[in-house]
Amino acid sequence: MLFDTHAHLNAEQFNEDLEEVISRAQEAGVTNMVVVGFDQPTITRAMELAESYEFIYACVGWHPVDAIDMTEEDLKWIEELAAHPKVVAIGEMGLDYHWDKSPKDIQKDVFRRQIRLAKKVKLPIVIHNREATQDIVEILKEEGAAEVGGIMHCFSGSAETAKECVNMNFYISLGGPVTFKNAKKPKEVAAEIPLDKLLIETDCPYLAPHPFRGKRNEPSYVKLVAEQIAEIKGLTYEEVAEATTQNAKKCFAIN
Ligand SMILES: [Zn+2]
Ligand SMILES: [Zn+2]
Repeated sequence: MLFDTHAHLNAEQFNEDLEEVISRAQEAGVTNMVVVGFDQPTITRAMELAESYEFIYACVGWHPVDAIDMTEEDLKWIEELAAHPKVVAIGEMGLDYHWDKSPKDIQKDVFRRQIRLAKKVKLPIVIHNREATQDIVEILKEEGAAEVGGIMHCFSGSAETAKECVNMNFYISLGGPVTFKNAKKPKEVAAEIPLDKLLIETDCPYLAPHPFRGKRNEPSYVKLVAEQIAEIKGLTYEEVAEATTQNAKKCFAIN
């Protein structure tokens, strides 16, 4: 069993062959996936997929890159969707300083408002972080995000920061980059963070693991992430697959 905790099967890259992609995932042992929506069209599609497939769950929120576009109505809509039985988390939210479409202060405001929303609806949060680690950790602390906890998705920071996040009730989710030969930090995180705090994800269609780097990613490749973590930790693939699946179910409160 494998749990892909962060997949964008709602992306247009899967319009042509979604059924085949899902079949390949099931053949690879993927038993659950969370599809993440982060703006109006992708949230709508994530909900459609969660309602169509028993093993697909939805995570809904607003992406920091597009923070400037989020309206009051969008936030209200996300709050309404949070009551849906297949919605298991709020996000992805956070800060992204790589792109400058949304000014930092707007990103921070939209991030804080979503943390408050998640606390209100009592769901965990999924954090997107790009070049903004310090500000993210600070906001999580200030907003008391530990109350709901959640996931540091596709974590790329240091083992030190990962530990700090674990102490704030967050799981550390590793994706394709942990398989890259030159990826020093994700490998250190895999080595140092205890297995009961680790999750796996693809973030597909992005960030395909080795040997598919640069190609379209898909949920079946999450197996490669689990194999890499097993190798780093000196565990069997089965141990990592089982533990990360149980961790994900616990995090998302799925039976
Ligand atoms: Zn992200
Ligand atoms: Zn994502």
